[in-house]
Amino acid sequence: MPKILLVEDEAAIADTLLYALGREGLDACHVALGRAALDAIATGGIDLVLLDVGLPDMDGFSVCRELRRTSQVPVIFLTARSEEVDRIVGLEIGGDDYVCKPFSPREVATRVKAVLRRARPMPEGAATDGSTGDFVHDAAGLRISYRGVWLDLTRYEYGLLAALLARPGAVSSRATLMDRVWTDALESGDRTVDTHVKTVRAKLAAIAPDADPIRTHRGLGYSLDTGRG
Ligand code: CA
Repeated sequence: MPKILLVEDEAAIADTLLYALGREGLDACHVALGRAALDAIATGGIDLVLLDVGLPDMDGFSVCRELRRTSQVPVIFLTARSEEVDRIVGLEIGGDDYVCKPFSPREVATRVKAVLRRARPMPEGAATDGSTGDFVHDAAGLRISYRGVWLDLTRYEYGLLAALLARPGAVSSRATLMDRVWTDALESGDRTVDTHVKTVRAKLAAIAPDADPIRTHRGLGYSLDTGRG
């Protein structure tokens, strides 16, 4: 049974969530501080982290950034402010999903199950191991290198790039990419793909500023130019 770590300092919210997760057959444990969360994750055996952004000792973003140095465990943020959402899905945090407060405990349990589902199987067509031009895809290690540098990608960014890399030069529509990478329907549409294309582009540009291998095809979608080789 997957083990969920709930990191939440408000006891009432924690109790409600633990109850809801238990009802859905999910095994959850609870800590109230960021430092305790990092210790628990380092100990191992955690399959998913539900992480409150506002914690007393360190904020949830710092917790996530720190745990990402050593762990790819899926993280769902619990956030009270919708302004934080762009940071969560954006470049630097490495979260997998978010739920805005006030939330229904059932919604949280549904998200947890969705993230756990897609944490297991890779997106269809994306698990192709090997080297294509400037890119090397290590499907077992869930990582992709570009021009000899391993990219530091979030789960969605990895899925997106892997999906494009599976069909070099071919145009993938936003809808196709949504289907392959965002396997739950709770995420929003075109903007989600575009936002992640933007962040992946930024990471590729950090390695080769002039190359820009992700091509935009207006009204159609995106393709990947894998370069030489
Ligand atoms: Ca809090």
